[in-house]
Amino acid sequence: MLGAPGAGKGTQADILAGEMSLPHIASGNLLREAVEKKTELGLLAQSYMERGELVPDELIIKMILQRIALPDCASGGVLDGFPRTLAQAEALDKGLGDKGKSIDKAVYLKLSRKELLKRLSGRWLCRNCQTPYHLITAPPRVAGKCDKCGGELYQREDDKEETIKERLKIFFAQTVPIIDYYRRQDKLIEVNGNQGIAEVARELMTSLRGKAK
Ligand code: AMP
Repeated sequence: MLGAPGAGKGTQADILAGEMSLPHIASGNLLREAVEKKTELGLLAQSYMERGELVPDELIIKMILQRIALPDCASGGVLDGFPRTLAQAEALDKGLGDKGKSIDKAVYLKLSRKELLKRLSGRWLCRNCQTPYHLITAPPRVAGKCDKCGGELYQREDDKEETIKERLKIFFAQTVPIIDYYRRQDKLIEVNGNQGIAEVARELMTSLRGKAK
């Protein structure tokens, strides 16, 4: 699942993973968990995340390859937030190729910059299960509480205005090239992300089914 910060990758990856009964693997969630638990990876990653910068490729590649080697990924998975650089995309192809597997499809959720800024500024996350909410477009049923698990909702440190600008800049410089990488492999599906959650999910499923091999 490719897209700028605030594009709705987490929400759509969650829906897609549910529809396909596959695990949802979100690099940002795995990193935030590591930071919270103060693991070695968490301590190394924290300062990059706070500045809105990308965590070094070698750390994130190792983390994801270890995660997708777990038994729940035997039939596949929905990757969200990874890969974000060409080096990561190539390392993922190599890691999967070594196991006789490959990426089936890359979904790009495309949104205008204006819409991205609007979404990021109202975003809240569950501290427990990481489900995303939005104050205006997707509020929880009970203010401050997660609909799924009752966990406490919080705003991410890196959703502050200055950090958001840095994250968007990095997306356009470093992640946009991998959209072309998947386009050249004829694996890219572009979805108009400037719509409501249900409309995006419908467009995504229709495109995936239409292009399923
Ligand atoms: P996200 O929740 O996907 O917005 O990720 C939050 C932060 O985690 C990013 O701003 C990066 O600092 C780091 N991060 C997540 N995924 C990656 C990745 N694939 N490569 C490098 N850094 C990442």
